[in-house]
This record gives sequence, C-alpha cells and structure tokens, in this order.
Amino acid sequence: MNIKFSPNILHLIVSTKCNIKCRHCHQNANGENELILTEEELSPVIIEAGKLGIRRIVIMGGEIFLFPELVNALIKISHDNSLNVSFATNGYWGKSSEAAESVMDLLENAGWYQHENSFCCDDILISAGEFHQEWLSSSTIKTAISAYHSRFKKPIYIDFEYTEGKRNLVEQFIENMSSLPEKSYIISQIRTNFYKFGRTIPLSDTEMHSKHYIDFSPCPWIDRIVIHSNGEIYPCCGYNDNNPGLCIGNMHLGNISDIISAANKSFIIKLLLNIPMGLTYGILKKRHPDLPTFFSNHCELCEIICKPEYRIELENEFRSNLSGIVE
Ligand code: SF4
Ligand code: SF4
Repeated sequence: MNIKFSPNILHLIVSTKCNIKCRHCHQNANGENELILTEEELSPVIIEAGKLGIRRIVIMGGEIFLFPELVNALIKISHDNSLNVSFATNGYWGKSSEAAESVMDLLENAGWYQHENSFCCDDILISAGEFHQEWLSSSTIKTAISAYHSRFKKPIYIDFEYTEGKRNLVEQFIENMSSLPEKSYIISQIRTNFYKFGRTIPLSDTEMHSKHYIDFSPCPWIDRIVIHSNGEIYPCCGYNDNNPGLCIGNMHLGNISDIISAANKSFIIKLLLNIPMGLTYGILKKRHPDLPTFFSNHCELCEIICKPEYRIELENEFRSNLSGIVE
C-alpha cells in the first residue's frame, strides 16, 4: 500500500444553486437550492490549506457567479494565503456584453492574477457541451470568451461534453467560435462518458459508454479536499461524491489536517487508491452475482463499493483472506 492520500487542491462546491438545469447534472443543481457556504465558514479552511502547502483552489456551484460578493471575498482570501484560483462556471454571464464586463470588473477589482506561466495563473473553466447548449447558446459563450480575453489577454478553458455519435458538436463549437482571436480559448476537456448520478440517471444506456468491471484501475483522482455546501468533505470531485461511504469528514467538525490523517488510516481510501477497482468489485460480484457487470466510469463502481454493507464485507475479506494487502 504505497499510495497515500496527499491532496494538492482545495475544491469548494459552495452551493448547488444554479440558473440552468442541465439534464445530465449529477448534483441535481437548480434554482431552489439555497444552502451556501459563507465567507466566515470558508476563511479558516482556506488559511489552513495555504499552511498545508495547497496552492490551488477550485471554486464552483451550482453557478458560482450567482454569488459575486463571495467570489470577490474568496479570490482575496485565496491570494492572501498563496492559492491560485480556478472558477468553474456555465458562462451565463456572456448573455450580454454588459453582464460579461461586470464579471470582468468583479475579477479585476478582486485582484484576478494573470502570469505568463499558466500554472501560476488564476483561470476560468466554462462547461459548454451538448447538455449545456440546451440552455446557453454559443453566442453567450462567445461573448464570455471575448470579454475575458480582451480584459486579461489569457484563454478561457472549455469543458465540452457530448454523447456518443455527437462528435460533430465539437467541430460546430469551433466553427461558431472561429471569429474569436487566436488562443482566446482552449478546449481542455472533452468528455464522452457520463455518470449515472443525479439527473444523469434517466439518460438511456445508449447515450453512455460502458465497459466491463474488470477493466477498471485504482481510482486515479483521489487528490483533493472537496467541500460540499453542507460542509461534508470528500477526497475527490468524482461523481459518487454524495455517497456517505466516501465522506472523510466535515469542515464544521474538524480541521483539514486531522481529516487528511484520518483518511490515510481509512480502509476504503487505501483500497480505492491502491487496488484495481475491477479486482475489488470482482470480490463483491462473486458473492452477489446480480450486481451489474458494465459501467461507464470508475465512479459508478465506487458507488457500489462504498455502500456501508459492501464496505464491511470487503474489509472482512481483505483482513481474513487477503491480509497484508491493505494495511
Ligand atoms: S451548469 Fe453545472 S451545476 Fe448548473 S445545472 Fe448545469 S451541470 Fe449542473
Ligand atoms: S472512483 Fe470514487 S474515489 Fe475515485 S473519483 Fe470517482 S467517486 Fe471519487
């Protein structure tokens, strides 16, 4: 068991309030969710993260720019504690030049940091794929990119999701953006697999990619402290991150360094980090043949593996018949 939980990113899901309702949203975000983490609650966490050597904070909602005062405060607190900031947004503020300019003013006045080296910059990621396009037009995204690039001379990053057979949407997006200045945006993520959580559940299997459980490696994404709007902390931004079996603590009940230490002693975290998930799941599948065989992503297997009853079974199995593998 060599791989340890050593987070290098602080990730805040400050609220699940959103102004659109994508039909693949694993968070079930909508306009009614009012729970929001406050500046007072988050400041001590960001200060501690800075002391622990974490240098990047990713902040999202729901839709984060619905909370301009919090955006302003979080940029300042993060910079004061040597963290660079990334915001993930749906880019709705590109609906008019005026709205986009007011977001640019907000960022600039808060000290939005740009540097030649993109690794030490603040940055913005807009989700703009197939399901987002059902709510927000390409001209909205274009206005957002244009405003950002002319103000900060840096690209915006684009996260583009599409379902099987819809690759043409990427080309269409590029075509729609063709009059923008060169390097004003970078498509940094193209996702074709969706996770059956939240509003994604009803999407038909034909829209998903599926593979046999045996093909899944150890989870490669346990690398951050992710704080949800209810204060719960998870070790990843995966799509099973509302499963209490994966929860490693609560920001209202303990400090970050104690939570990291406890996570490193947790059987389930050691298992997910070090053992191929297909192998772990195979133990359960042998005992429960009715469990599913095909999955679209690690997080779907993880959701089953982390169920309290299966966790106990797995722990017993590893301790009695596979002792020494997870110490
Ligand atoms: S923009 Fe993001 S948070 Fe809002 S509904 Fe869509 S996927 Fe969910
Ligand atoms: S597989 Fe589990 S631990 Fe890994 S990213 Fe997905 S939810 Fe998180």
